[in-house]
Amino acid sequence: MSYTGLTGKVVVPGQPEYEQARQEYNIAINKYPCAIVYCFNSCDIANAILWSRKQGVKLRIRSGRHNYEGYSTGNRKLVIDTTLMNDIKVNTDDDTVEIQAGVRLGYLYERLYQCGYTFPGGTCPSVGISGLVLGGGIGLSTRYLGLTADSLLEAEMVDAEGNQLTVNDCCNPGLFWALRGAGGGNFGVVTRYKFRLKNVDKITLIQLRWDNDKSARLEFLRVWQKWLLNLDRRISAFGGIYKLGAWMNSFFYGCPEEARQILGPLLEIPGITLENIEYVDFIDAVKTIGEIYPEREAFKATGRFVHRHFSQSELVKFIDIIDKAPANNANSSIRVYSLGGAVRNVEVNETAFFDRQANYIIAITSSWERKKEASLHKKWVAAGFDYIYTVTLGSYINFPYNNLPNYEQAYYGAHVRRLQRIKKEYDPYNVFSFPQSIL
Ligand SMILES: Cc1cc2nc3c(=O)[nH]c(=O)nc-3n(C[C@H](O)[C@H](O)[C@H](O)COP(=O)(O)OP(=O)(O)OC[C@H]3O[C@@H](n4cnc5c(N)ncnc54)[C@H](O)[C@@H]3O)c2cc1C
Repeated sequence: MSYTGLTGKVVVPGQPEYEQARQEYNIAINKYPCAIVYCFNSCDIANAILWSRKQGVKLRIRSGRHNYEGYSTGNRKLVIDTTLMNDIKVNTDDDTVEIQAGVRLGYLYERLYQCGYTFPGGTCPSVGISGLVLGGGIGLSTRYLGLTADSLLEAEMVDAEGNQLTVNDCCNPGLFWALRGAGGGNFGVVTRYKFRLKNVDKITLIQLRWDNDKSARLEFLRVWQKWLLNLDRRISAFGGIYKLGAWMNSFFYGCPEEARQILGPLLEIPGITLENIEYVDFIDAVKTIGEIYPEREAFKATGRFVHRHFSQSELVKFIDIIDKAPANNANSSIRVYSLGGAVRNVEVNETAFFDRQANYIIAITSSWERKKEASLHKKWVAAGFDYIYTVTLGSYINFPYNNLPNYEQAYYGAHVRRLQRIKKEYDPYNVFSFPQSIL
């Protein structure tokens, strides 16, 4: 195969860097692209798109490599990688930031905090800004500041013809709507984002654990769903249950005394083994939670939106599932991610992110160390998903699942038709495709 026409740093099979270059965050994804092109600028990206079309080689777009199912890579594909485009320009005059597509969250949080800003991103420092914002983006500031996509003011994108487009409320407004919730891999390669920012100083970091207390699991799920209903929007939380207990991590944009009051019903759950409610610099809170994540892992996971209260028998069913988990620790878990608050301030039709009215996301995840354990973990996730699917509505595109039935409807609900029209307008020859792309 001739690679003439590709510009940037090109890595192909046989080169020493290839093994590392083909690897995703999820080690269970094991694909062999025909080439990986690390682009320095939009021109390299345009050349890569045109090369792939001319050669008849399908392409994939990659930034932080965290897609659960590996949709940013593929066998015999050209991977267009934005990692080397990682500039951040903070504009303190108008409280905005311009971020290139290859930036990862840990670096972004650091840079912004140096200038006194928070950011409504996710919790894992190595997740890329691109996949995160293009799928919506949730984290421990979501109920206060909205989805990551809700702070987006503008993007730049290279389309299927290699043209560079400015995308905002005035230029290409339909595409701007689509990028905020359905943009990952579907319409073109986004190269730059502009976000509005909000100042921050200290926040309250909350970490609660109920270890070795099986009865806390049901109680946690029961209290959680009620607690979220009229919850102060300054607090956001991620929690979960595992075989032997439960946990919750949370940020509160206020002081610890007030946090304690808000947390009341959770603090009353018997068997609490850790109760950390601490007033810290925003960046220290971000780092404490970020340290939980490994550098890489092999896992299977997916997540669905919860719009209603679960009955006692439905909650007990979740406990039955977790009792059958392959791992005793939180490597096998059912997780919950708060929504509501500022997410509901934006009308459902304002962006492509459909499930804005959901109360929270429920996810099932399992990770393993040894390859021979993989099928056990995958089977457990599949069985758990089969039940979760029956009691939930809609899936979060950033927690994708290969076996999801009717995936367009599940990810985008009533927005599917509009997204399909925008897809035809910007990518009529379906240059940007992957196993669950918009058709
Ligand atoms: C450990 C871990 C923690 C996570 N934590 C959170 C969290 O707290 N909150 C949350 O909301 N999500 C979270 N996620 C999910 C995460 O948001 C998604 O996996 C996201 O898509 C990752 O983006 P990426 O750029 O790192 O991944 P990639 O695999 O590089 O890309 C993800 C998708 O976006 C497309 N894409 C990438 N770059 C571009 C681009 N420049 N232009 C157009 N399309 C592009 C890819 O083709 C792919 O379809 C987590 C995932 C993991 C593995």
